[in-house]
Amino acid sequence: MTHASDSARPADASLSETPSSAVDRLEKGYGRAGEATRSSDTLLINEQSRLLEAGGRRIFKFGFGQSPFPVFTPAVDALAKHAAEKAYLPVQGLPALREQVARFHSDIDHTRWDAERIIVGPGSKLLLFALMKSLPEADILIPAPSWVSYAPQARMAGQRAVRLDASFETRWQVTPEQLEAHCIENPERLKLLILNAPGNPTGLSPDVETQERLANVARRHGVLVLADEIYGLLHHRGEHRAFALDYPEGTVTTSGLSKWCGAGGWRLGVMHVPSELGQEVFARIVGMASETWSSVTSPIQYAAITAYTRTPDLDAYVQRQREVLSEIGQWCAARLNDAKVRTHAPNGGFYLFPDFEAHREALAARGITTSAELTARLLEDAGVALLPGSAFGCDPSQLTVRLAYVDFDGDALMKSEQATLEQATTTTLIKGMDAIVEWLNHGRCS
Ligand code: PMP
Ligand code: GLU
Repeated sequence: MTHASDSARPADASLSETPSSAVDRLEKGYGRAGEATRSSDTLLINEQSRLLEAGGRRIFKFGFGQSPFPVFTPAVDALAKHAAEKAYLPVQGLPALREQVARFHSDIDHTRWDAERIIVGPGSKLLLFALMKSLPEADILIPAPSWVSYAPQARMAGQRAVRLDASFETRWQVTPEQLEAHCIENPERLKLLILNAPGNPTGLSPDVETQERLANVARRHGVLVLADEIYGLLHHRGEHRAFALDYPEGTVTTSGLSKWCGAGGWRLGVMHVPSELGQEVFARIVGMASETWSSVTSPIQYAAITAYTRTPDLDAYVQRQREVLSEIGQWCAARLNDAKVRTHAPNGGFYLFPDFEAHREALAARGITTSAELTARLLEDAGVALLPGSAFGCDPSQLTVRLAYVDFDGDALMKSEQATLEQATTTTLIKGMDAIVEWLNHGRCS
């Protein structure tokens, strides 16, 4: 039988064409397409730390931002109970789960989450990408520093990534004035501003007044906001202020089980798209889901219903994480500040964003002039894994790093009510912090 494509090909094609392998064609194609999509820095440091440990080195693991706490036990039990669920579920997510998520966030954040406008995805990461991809041509406004994947995702979605530089002095927050200036200079383009609070890599949230002013500028200029609130429940004092409170009609909110429920590997994220934004954008996101991931793993969705059901036990579980993270985060920030590494005390989540600027001269004398050189040498000399500020969009010469204070046994701390820093499980974390300071002062580590 002859296929249509076969009949269209000259019989002696193999003689007349210079043979070109699939590999050649790929290389040629990528040459034209420009910069390759590299592996994400967060996942890379995880692999590197693992390899170094396998080779016998002791590594203080402050690089990868994974929750150290166990998954909420009733959710694990629910997962076991639903292990035999095998059917594909609705693309948008199980209705009972969406209802529960809507109730949960409306209750906790005092915002209106409408179950009809929620989509469940395999991690919020893919939902963020789907949103960017579903927009018409847009500027994606990305604060620097901010999470490693926003800018690559914007480029992969074919959008223009615009960096808005923040500084230590503004607590690493984009200012309303900056947003306004960009809007005035680019009046025609659709804009999506990404805000992440409490922040990765900073651990910081904007104060209420700044948030209200940002919301007003966004409203006045018709800027869409993507509020990535995956660390919202881990605000150390339980005072997370959802951006949608200040700008309900223009804020798309994302969250999920990865951080507050300790279940990064379960891959379940949620997104709420307010009805004011209309049908088209939502339909496109759901369409993209249907053509790519189909639906999130069935047993995980059933288990998530339990995770999203607020009970006194769930509140206590979240509260214990806040206490532990607050105690450790405050202590780590103070330890760094004592060593003249300026660091804001965190509001939430499990990251710090220390700035080694005061040590610039001494570091330069040791051949270190960029954040990437700084983290490479800290890993090599002191066995401390961190990520450079440049991975979060900062100027490479800015001497900032991200420290994820998660190198402790969250299981043990969850079960105990004693002060965190007096327990054996935080010894490694304390030693890791000592290793940074010792390396800074003496150029080596004992
Ligand atoms: N946003 C931020 C700021 C993150 O740190 C992460 C890391 N997990 C994500 C989104 C994505 O989380 P997930 O895909 O696990 O929901
Ligand atoms: N969000 C985590 C981090 O920033 C890791 C997971 C990921 O990047 O997907 O380290």
